Amino acid sequence: MSWIYLDNNATTKIDPAVLEDMLPFLQESYGNASSVQHRMGREANEAIALARHQVAFKLGCKDNEIFFTSGATEAVNTVLRGIADAYQRKGKHIITCLSEHKAVLTTCALLEKRGMEVTYLPVNQQGQLDLQLLEDSIRDDTVLVSIMAANNETGVIHPIKEIADICQRRDVLYFCDATQYIGKKELNLANIPIDILTFSAHKIHGPKGVGALFIRRKSKPIQIPALISGGKQEQGLRGGTYNVPNIIGCGKAMEISKNHAYIKVYRDLLEEQLTSRIPQCFVHAPATSRLDNTSFIAFRHIKSAELMTSMPQIALSSGSACASGLLDPSHVLKSMQVSDEDSFSSLRFSLSKYTEREEILQTVEELVATVEQVRSLSPIWKLFQDGLID
Ligand code: PLP
Repeated sequence: MSWIYLDNNATTKIDPAVLEDMLPFLQESYGNASSVQHRMGREANEAIALARHQVAFKLGCKDNEIFFTSGATEAVNTVLRGIADAYQRKGKHIITCLSEHKAVLTTCALLEKRGMEVTYLPVNQQGQLDLQLLEDSIRDDTVLVSIMAANNETGVIHPIKEIADICQRRDVLYFCDATQYIGKKELNLANIPIDILTFSAHKIHGPKGVGALFIRRKSKPIQIPALISGGKQEQGLRGGTYNVPNIIGCGKAMEISKNHAYIKVYRDLLEEQLTSRIPQCFVHAPATSRLDNTSFIAFRHIKSAELMTSMPQIALSSGSACASGLLDPSHVLKSMQVSDEDSFSSLRFSLSKYTEREEILQTVEELVATVEQVRSLSPIWKLFQDGLID
C-alpha cells in the first residue's frame, strides 16, 4: 500500500504552479524588495505588489488593506495584543469562543493575565454558536469579537456574515480567523463587514511561514500597533526584510485556490463507508454546515493513537497539528460536550484537491480491518460487547 496523505488541515502539498512562480525569486532575482534603487530590488518589489493584488482581488478588498505576515499565528498575536493595547481607553473586554484555535485561546489567556477580561462563548453539541448569546455578551467596554470562520478539527462553519452584521450594528470590531475557510469556501469582503481577517498560505497549497492579514480601511481607522517593530515594511505594521519567494507563493496560491466539488463526494463516501461498516463509529457534528474536506470521526473504545500507529502509511491526525501528540483531549470536542473517552478515540481526516478516490477506498479497507483487529484483542471492547459498559 502506498503512502496516503489525509492531514490537509495541518498543512498541504505545495502546488507546482506556486513553486514555479517562487523559484526565480530564490535563484536569480534575489533582491531585497526595499532596495528599489536597482533593478533586482524593483523586480522583487513589483512581484510583491502583484501578490498583494492577487490576495486582495480574491478577497474582494483593496490592495492596501492586505499585510503579509509569517502566518495566522503571527497575525492573531498582532491583532489581539495590538487591539488590547490600542483600545485601552474604550475598554478591556474581548469575546471569543471555546472552540477557537490555540493561537487565539493562548493569546487571550495571556491577555487575561495582563488585565483584559475575556468571554469564552460556549458551543452546542454540533459545535454551533448561539448568536443571541454573542449579541447579549457585547458590552460598552467590548473592544473585539474574535470568532473563526471554520474549525480546524471538526470543519464546523460559523455564520460569519451574521456575526459581522451583529458586530457592525453594535459598533464592535470583528476579527475572523479564516485560516481553514479561505480557499475552501468563497468569501467576498465587499459583502461581509468583517473588520480584520487572517489566513496562512500553507493551508491552500502555498509555502509555509507566510500568510496575510486584512485590515479594513474605515473612516474611523482601526488602530493596530506593530507587533514586530523595525523598518517601514507593510506600512510600518511589520518590520523586517520581505520574504519575497514566500509572499509570491502566497499570492499565487490564493489566485489559483478554489473549491473542488469532488472533495465533498470523497469525504461523504469516506463517512458513509466507515459509519456503515464499523460498529460504534460516528462523525462529530454531522448535522451542521461543515467544510467539504473535513471529517472528525470517533471509533469508540479504541485509542486513536493506537489506530494511527497500526496504520503508519496513512497520515491522519487526532486533532489539530499543534495539539496532537499532547495527552490532553481535544479542547474542541470538549467544548462540544464530547466525553474524554470518545475524544481520545477520534481521528481527523482532511482531504485536498490531490486526494484520489482510490486512496479513500484504501483508507476505508485499512481502517475496517485495523479496528476489527484492535478490538478483537481489547478487554474494553469485550466489556462493551458483554453489556458491562456503554
Ligand atoms: N488558525 C487556525 C484555524 C488554524 O487551523 C491554524 C493552523 O492550524 C492557525 C490558526 C495557525 O496557523 P499557522 O500555524 O500557519 O500560523
